Amino acid sequence: MEEAVDSYTRQALEHIRYLSQVIGGRGSTTPAVREAGDYVIEELHKAGAATVESEPFMGSPSTYRPYALAFFAAAIGSAIAVLVGDRVYLELGALLNLLGAWAMLAETDFRFHWWQLTLKKVPTRNVVGVIPPSGQPVHRAVLFAHLDTHRTPIFYSSTTWQNLFGTILAAAFLSMALGFVLFGVAALVGWDWLRWSGVILLPIQLFTLYLVGSADSTPHNPGANDNASGVGALVSLAQRLHDQPLAHTEVVLLFTDCEETGAYGIRAFLDKHAAEYGPQAVYVTLDEVALGVLKWLTTDGLILRHPTHPRALELAHSVSNALPDIKTIETAGLTYTDALPATMRGRIALTLCTVPDDAAAAASYWHQMGDPIDHIAAVTLENVQRFTWELLQQIDAG
Ligand SMILES: [Zn+2]
Repeated sequence: MEEAVDSYTRQALEHIRYLSQVIGGRGSTTPAVREAGDYVIEELHKAGAATVESEPFMGSPSTYRPYALAFFAAAIGSAIAVLVGDRVYLELGALLNLLGAWAMLAETDFRFHWWQLTLKKVPTRNVVGVIPPSGQPVHRAVLFAHLDTHRTPIFYSSTTWQNLFGTILAAAFLSMALGFVLFGVAALVGWDWLRWSGVILLPIQLFTLYLVGSADSTPHNPGANDNASGVGALVSLAQRLHDQPLAHTEVVLLFTDCEETGAYGIRAFLDKHAAEYGPQAVYVTLDEVALGVLKWLTTDGLILRHPTHPRALELAHSVSNALPDIKTIETAGLTYTDALPATMRGRIALTLCTVPDDAAAAASYWHQMGDPIDHIAAVTLENVQRFTWELLQQIDAG
């Protein structure tokens, strides 16, 4: 925090402080995330954004409920297959495992699945500020960051847990796929003994159900790095764009809700604007941008990995070449980001984030109560802001 940084970084730090310390945990669709939105609206007005608007949408307060329902269905299916084992129950067991696997896969890939019919959606909003160029608008860049913060379940509480949870999720998905196949074969071919595979599948499904089922009762973290850092960087960018406007690029600054519960905010924004903006618009999300080394993602998604648009990667490389003093890395994403829905629609979309140098610290603040402002590295934040600024210059010159 003491490092000497430029004035825009100092402004960003002040926004991070306000969001993470004064407002604190900003759960998706909660009054706290609305308060964060109000703060951003006020700051965008102060920075002289041409238009600042709230765009309402229906979002989800929980990311875990659809998964809990999927594992619950599979566990019931596996239990009746083992305990009863008659043909019709084996068929039912296979079907429930299939429904569980389908729901999990669809949920991670933002696609429709049967349990969504039972999900409670509540009204919330995105905040959108537009900064026009000084000259004729030719290009458009949409820079976005999520306002909401995640809960703090046990499986994010340490690096070991985080790695383990990845394996548990993969095992749970596999157990449901196997449950469908094995119980299905048992019912069709009459190999009754196959139903005993449920003795292995069921504990995996019950354990995962317990983990995700209890996650929604944990508090929301203050989210200094994830993602007051992205929000703060973009609000201070509004000020810089006001001071030094681009020549031909309209910049849309978007602050989303419900990234943490399934990227509902960005999906609503794309539904409304993607067609109008066209395929040439560049979408860049800043997510966790104040801790360690700058990186961008080459793929995005939890189970199905979607490759980043080649034009987005080309831009990232070109910006990195122009700023040789900033260390960068490119890696595949481990989960999804707000850029994924744009990538899935074939848009030029990039995720800029950071990863701590120290592997042990790498996961230590993610989705934990220990993501307060003390861990924020001002120099990292400044690097991300310089990178973003250069990116805008290159889009503007393109
Ligand atoms: Zn985030």
